[in-house]
Amino acid sequence: MQEFFVGVGEKPFRATQVIQWIHQYGVDDFGAMTNLGKELRARLRDMAEIRVPEIIQDQTAADGTRKWLLRLNDANAIETVFIPEEDRGTLCVSSQVGCTLNCSFCSTGHQGFNRSLTVAEIIAQLLVANRALGRDPKGDRIITNVVLMGMGEPLLNFDNVLPAMRLMLDDYAYGLSRRRVTLSTAGVVPMLERLREECPVSLAVSLHAPNDALRDQLVPLNRKYPIRELLEACRRYCADSPRSRVTFEYVMLDGVNDSVAHAHELVELLQTVPSKVNLIPFNPFPQTQYRRSSKEVIDRFREVLIAAGLTTITRKTRGDDIDAACGQLAGRVQDRTRRRERLAIRTGQA
Ligand code: SAH
Repeated sequence: MQEFFVGVGEKPFRATQVIQWIHQYGVDDFGAMTNLGKELRARLRDMAEIRVPEIIQDQTAADGTRKWLLRLNDANAIETVFIPEEDRGTLCVSSQVGCTLNCSFCSTGHQGFNRSLTVAEIIAQLLVANRALGRDPKGDRIITNVVLMGMGEPLLNFDNVLPAMRLMLDDYAYGLSRRRVTLSTAGVVPMLERLREECPVSLAVSLHAPNDALRDQLVPLNRKYPIRELLEACRRYCADSPRSRVTFEYVMLDGVNDSVAHAHELVELLQTVPSKVNLIPFNPFPQTQYRRSSKEVIDRFREVLIAAGLTTITRKTRGDDIDAACGQLAGRVQDRTRRRERLAIRTGQA
């Protein structure tokens, strides 16, 4: 933005002002940016535009979870989900149209992949949601946390995710603390290093299995970056800030990865990484063979982890009546992967 202003012969600090108008005040009319001067406002109107994605669907679940379907400039659409809780409001943001990773239990993967989102398309999800939600009675924003846990793999679109995250943290834009922005990844190991160096936000890792044989089946990316390498990267990620821990996500699939033996194996695995565990009851979608583990099985699994000293919670299933729960986001993906590419991705050759 600074480059833009300097390029048209203006002072660089104009960038901060415009960013504040757009992201903090939600203004999309240059004419209303009163600290810019009449002439500059007119110039901006001639040479630039502020365009936010159109909401094509806006659904609210019985539990208050809200999901927006947003139209992009091409034929695609993405989903963004707001999850209200007593002490916070979390926005779940997408990073790609579809996903290349093909995790066997995820609906987004089944849709195929079209493209990565631009910086604007990622940050616009906050803009649109903030506008729709307004502010609380004290005048504070309703969205207090952001999780990059929507459609796509954020670390495979890092060059666009990074500037978008910087805007989330910027005091002139959304002003969220690092702790309140969480990036979730299936484990793109080399990119974890870059994330650590360039923008160490809270980290969540989709583990889902305690050994490579099983994880190869569930998360095909594991064939490229096996568990040992992934955990090593997680250890490094935490090394800089002593209090930080990685959240390991573990989807509970009936009869697949949910036995007591699996729980013990998981405990063993996580000994050397500062960790928390989020157990996610599997959320079904039309083309799936998997079933959700029963509550008793999930409780038993959690007890094993807790007894071993691991902080473990079972993630509440939110918004499943509007297909807004983990792994149910589908959007509208004009799939562009060819069969050959897909197979390559699945076998880790991509
Ligand atoms: N690609 C990133 C971001 C997606 S986050 C990642 O893999 O972390 C979405 C989370 O929901 C991931 O932990 C994912 O594994 C999990 N998930 C996917 N499908 C699911 C399903 N059907 N039920 C429950 N959780 C699911």
